[in-house]
Amino acid sequence: MRIILLGSPGAGKGTVANLLKQHDGSVHISTGDILRNAVKAGTPLGKKAKEYMDQGALVPDSLIIDIMGERLQESDCKHGFILDGFPRTIPQAEALDNLLEKLSIRLDGVVNLEVARSVILDRLTTRRTCSNPSCQAIYNVKTNPPKTEGICDKCGSPVVQRSDETEEAILKRLETYNQQTAPLIDYYKKRGMLITITSLDLDTIIKEILAALKK
Ligand code: AMP
Repeated sequence: MRIILLGSPGAGKGTVANLLKQHDGSVHISTGDILRNAVKAGTPLGKKAKEYMDQGALVPDSLIIDIMGERLQESDCKHGFILDGFPRTIPQAEALDNLLEKLSIRLDGVVNLEVARSVILDRLTTRRTCSNPSCQAIYNVKTNPPKTEGICDKCGSPVVQRSDETEEAILKRLETYNQQTAPLIDYYKKRGMLITITSLDLDTIIKEILAALKK
């Protein structure tokens, strides 16, 4: 499949992408993960991105567009891709349109995960993430805690609260989403590509997405 996952921070894009990729081996590309790995590795990209990320702001379009221009041409994307966190602005969506046209690739659809703000706030403040960059398993202190407090079930690394998941940064990220990313819903609706999912149940979400993509 070749799809974009839209939805506010905390809508479940990462979790849904991880389940979807098991269906056909499509690669999950998360710009947030790419940037967080760059920050951890202390690369020039990471150094530039960190200040934006910690404030809950978006990193500049040109930076992300360059990264994705290269990433989408890597060989693992030939079998399909699930874009999580990109595009996030209208200029990024336009750049993606141009890039896909150049590569003669057609998207199968744009999935919008619609989740109420109260649910999002609760999820984000209780979310914890494995600190190992190659694992990044997601937990929730209320609904899905690790078996041993603070330790990842999968790889044994510390499970932490992301630095952009303090209450202040979360509110800023939601504001950024409403102002800069939510307009993409209309952008793709007008192109007849939007698949809206409102369920909170993961099995139902996956079934509905796969059914809509078959149409
Ligand atoms: P995420 O894990 O997708 O919520 O991304 C975490 C942070 O990375 C965001 O709050 C932004 O600062 C940055 N980021 C991720 N994807 C993008 C993008 N497409 N454009 C600009 N900034 C991004």
